[in-house]
Amino acid sequence: MPSPQRLATTIRRGKTQNKPKAHTLKETELRFRQVHLDFHTSESIQSVGSNFDPEQFAETLVKANVNSITCFGRCHHGWIYFDSKAFPERRHPHLQKELLPRQIEACHRLGIRVPIYLTVQWDHYTATRRSEWLAQDAAGRVIGTPPFEAGFYKTLCVNTPYREFLKQHTAEVLEIFPTDGLFFDIVFPIACACRYCREKMLAAGLEPSNENVRKRFGLETINEFKHEMTRFVRERNPDCTIFYNAGQVGPRHRPVKTAYSHFELETLPSGEWGYLHFPVTVRYARTLGLDYLGQTGKFHTSWGDFHSFKNLPALRFECLRMLAHGAKCLIGDQLAPSGRIDPTVYDLVGEVYGEIARKEPWCAGARPVTEIGVLTPEEFTGGAVGALPEALKGATRILEQGGHQFDVLDSGSDFSLYRLLILPDHIPVSGELAQKLEQHVADGGGAIASFASGMDQAQTRFTTNLFGATVVNSGPLDLNGNPVRGHAFKRHDYCEYLLPKGAIGRGLPQTEHAMYRKGMAIKADGNAEVLAPILGSFFDRTYRHFCSHRQTPSSGLEIQAGIVRKGRCIYFSSPIFSQYNDSAPRWCKLLVLNALDLLLPEPLVKHNGPSTLQVALTQQETHGRWILHLLHFIPERRSEELDVIEDVIPLFKVKVGIKAPQLVRDVIVVPEETPLAFRAEGSYVVFEVDRIDGHAMVSLTFG
Ligand SMILES: [Zn+2]
Repeated sequence: MPSPQRLATTIRRGKTQNKPKAHTLKETELRFRQVHLDFHTSESIQSVGSNFDPEQFAETLVKANVNSITCFGRCHHGWIYFDSKAFPERRHPHLQKELLPRQIEACHRLGIRVPIYLTVQWDHYTATRRSEWLAQDAAGRVIGTPPFEAGFYKTLCVNTPYREFLKQHTAEVLEIFPTDGLFFDIVFPIACACRYCREKMLAAGLEPSNENVRKRFGLETINEFKHEMTRFVRERNPDCTIFYNAGQVGPRHRPVKTAYSHFELETLPSGEWGYLHFPVTVRYARTLGLDYLGQTGKFHTSWGDFHSFKNLPALRFECLRMLAHGAKCLIGDQLAPSGRIDPTVYDLVGEVYGEIARKEPWCAGARPVTEIGVLTPEEFTGGAVGALPEALKGATRILEQGGHQFDVLDSGSDFSLYRLLILPDHIPVSGELAQKLEQHVADGGGAIASFASGMDQAQTRFTTNLFGATVVNSGPLDLNGNPVRGHAFKRHDYCEYLLPKGAIGRGLPQTEHAMYRKGMAIKADGNAEVLAPILGSFFDRTYRHFCSHRQTPSSGLEIQAGIVRKGRCIYFSSPIFSQYNDSAPRWCKLLVLNALDLLLPEPLVKHNGPSTLQVALTQQETHGRWILHLLHFIPERRSEELDVIEDVIPLFKVKVGIKAPQLVRDVIVVPEETPLAFRAEGSYVVFEVDRIDGHAMVSLTFG
């Protein structure tokens, strides 16, 4: 660590001085216990920063086991929190004494990293003074907060001269401060129709009046902006971390990942993201090869929720779940305008981060161990916070409840890392993807597809013969002539019935089971086996004929194949993953888990715990060990708005089997260091975990 005096000199004079060697606290990996300290502070509040005490600030963080805190250079109001020479007019008008340099200095003195927050597309100061820099929709309207609403969400366009401001502003920050990292917030693609974008599109021979052209151009624009900004930063600082935040990391990040040093997954379970968003997105983001962290918040709800507190068990779950998925942790907070850090918040953070610190040695450098790859429809249908593909959510729910170890993939992923692939409901298969899938199966892999997966975009035919099924026709049409297949109807108007038999129906009575959404009309090929047929209803429900309150009952007549197997591939005609996401029929889950059992009879993890127990396996290669995470927290919908966790319900005597790749030397509950008795059962190492208080880790050492 540099001495406080030397650091202060560096802060003041920047590049003109010899920088202390440790000024960027070089690390190859992100830190585990981070805070993101929001500070969007209105100009209508006086005495900003008046109560900031650098010592109390840093010592509170140290006491709370925090080792990285993202602090504010410029906020969504557009205000700057240091003495800017380049843009003095943007310094917060009531900032009594600059904050950022004092935060950095106090934290560096105690070994805490301080990435710097800079807003990009939301900047109220700029938006209200430079209307020509705002993004516009096709009608020429400003995108974001209308004039008579509260909020700083007017969106700025980076194809305007605003980009030059952003560069000069970033250059000054890098010049003045010992910069550990830059967090650029709100950097997302917009189908912008502003003058600058229109001129650029026309110059490139593109037609700006076409919405699809604008969408593509918007994505190219934001990717090009990220690459340019990263080059610009790297010319001035070769090793600070760089992240561009935009709500969700997904397939659109693959082509631009070299602009990032790492990924931060903004996913606050008590906010608009909900508890399912993190596992869905982390399982994809972690396959892109960069270090990553999960962001949650200390807020009862979400960002900006002052004087509110998340329940301790909920914050524990959210952070421990990050560890289980190989992620580092970040908790969001907002500093009071006075600049005084709230000790009550850091009692809460400290309790959770104390546990994280104790558990870190078994998480550092850990990579998830997985065997199933789920292709995401997001690549084809798009996806956003609050609008993740329903089939992907359904698949995640089913596989987690089944204790499976899986990643989320796109068509560009390396399939050879997985024993089995799942194509949930809406994965159109191009010729190129068909070849890749066929190679995967030829190499000994398995595959499960459902509904429209495996077909062309128009859903008229299978583009691969892997699944042993052929499309017969588009199925029934509604009264307007549109196909009803795949759609959810409130009263299940086009319901059909699946009759499970044999191994695929294990655990289910051999009788009709409602498949509320109409499936694909298919027939099994001659070389395929029908595992379960579909039975029709007497008639579909329309005004012309209906029966009772909901769907018409089964006619008892088989109408087509429902589940088809060909070798190591199984196809479901129903949109079974979307259906599970709709209403969680247990039979839908069991049918999928039974199909997995047929293709993957020896999964990595087996346990006899309840379906609320989450299990995740990671490996620490340098230690020659696997770490099993057992998580048991149950979010409950206790309000209209959000899920709440208030209690830890312990589990006792959970029997676990791990399919270990080599001889296991010891099985130990860590960090408690309690050895467990274990034995070999076939290819499994079997042991019993005495008690799980929300979270338990078991280390299996090989050799
Ligand atoms: Zn524009």
